[in-house]
Amino acid sequence: MAEALRELNPRYGTDVPVRCCEDGAEADAVREAEPGIDWSVVEMYRPGVDRAKATGDGLWLNTSLVTPDRAARAIEKPDLTAWYEIENPTRVVSVDGGPPADDYSNLTIVVPEDQRQIVHAVPEGGTRPPCVSPDADMVMPTGDLWVLVQARQPDRILCPECTARHP
Ligand SMILES: [Zn+2]
Repeated sequence: MAEALRELNPRYGTDVPVRCCEDGAEADAVREAEPGIDWSVVEMYRPGVDRAKATGDGLWLNTSLVTPDRAARAIEKPDLTAWYEIENPTRVVSVDGGPPADDYSNLTIVVPEDQRQIVHAVPEGGTRPPCVSPDADMVMPTGDLWVLVQARQPDRILCPECTARHP
């Protein structure tokens, strides 16, 4: 992982210190020992393997889904998030055409067959990018990282404009 970071950008290891820790407690100790550095914690985890977590917020990367190269890019751009533009979104409808019953028993969820999701890249705290269709049925900002979404969502369409801006 540290090697993938250095390959991506040589500043890692020179200008930006990189420490590999076995678990969260060790990461906390590193931060305590060098408080002058603005550390950011990246937890590389595998489902089913239990390790102590570092305190505070961090970036969580599932190593069974994310390659070191992809993880390095996520660390490099942790503020680039994915927004989903949804055509023909899932709807809740009443089966009898009437208003929702008190216990919601007459409601059902409909997922249209022609539903499509287009993923856009937006810097955290950013505003709706111009490539989102002005008459989009639904737009969902998320905290999902763009570089990770790019890698593993074959059922979604990546916006070509956003892909060109953030390859
Ligand atoms: Zn876009």
